[in-house]
Amino acid sequence: MSDSITPDDSEYRAAVAFFMANHHAHDAYQVLDHAKRLAESIENATWEVLVPEKDGVPEVGAVVLKGQANRPAFYLSAGVHGDEPAGVLGALSWAESALAGWEMGDVVYLPLVNPWGLEHNVRNDASDQDLNRLFGDHKHPLVEAWRELMKGRQFAAAVSLHEDYDACGCYCYEIFCEGGLRFGRGALDAAADVIPLEACDEIEGVRAENGLLARAGLPDFDEGVPEAFPLFTDYATTSLTFETPSEYSLYDRARAHERFLHHVVGRLRRM
Ligand SMILES: [Zn+2]
Repeated sequence: MSDSITPDDSEYRAAVAFFMANHHAHDAYQVLDHAKRLAESIENATWEVLVPEKDGVPEVGAVVLKGQANRPAFYLSAGVHGDEPAGVLGALSWAESALAGWEMGDVVYLPLVNPWGLEHNVRNDASDQDLNRLFGDHKHPLVEAWRELMKGRQFAAAVSLHEDYDACGCYCYEIFCEGGLRFGRGALDAAADVIPLEACDEIEGVRAENGLLARAGLPDFDEGVPEAFPLFTDYATTSLTFETPSEYSLYDRARAHERFLHHVVGRLRRM
């Protein structure tokens, strides 16, 4: 996806037309094939299966890239909710351009956490559970495998990509350590080149400033444990959850996710 085009350009319209005619936003197998081929094509990268395919439910896996020990590590996941495809597409596009020739620390990239949900365009998984409330359940097969993969790792930044059908613009939850590096404001502003930021000063009951819901330490939340919480408490200095408005153009939503990621990793590169 080009970064230099605006909606008035015929080049932009052609890019949208091509994208919309060729996307496979809800084909989980195509997403997984794409991610596996990416892992094969990158030196020091492997495809790690977290939960194997079973009874028509596609596998969950991760691209794991061994980077330089003294450089910042990066975690990325997409598609925890199956009806939020833009993060999945944006992350794949980002990974294709960013991971080849990667010169930073380790990368763990889960391209599609809920493949069954993506196939069926629903939020929950095959057993009708919201995976993004289950990360406190260490006996859940996915969470258990995920914790095993994450064991001993420490990331400078962790990003979880989501979408919100209620939102009118992009927004981001940022959980950070006091005095630690912050990414949310700059990454949101980069995404805002594609889709405006959410204008409400309160989102999901949380105070927002120009789309940013920032918090030093874990917020209060009693509806289960989202992925962002153990990411922050156990594995990452800063945890970011980026959301695009689901009713916007799929092409622009995917590009907004890609922009967000390029900004975060650009900051890591300067660390
Ligand atoms: Zn979501």
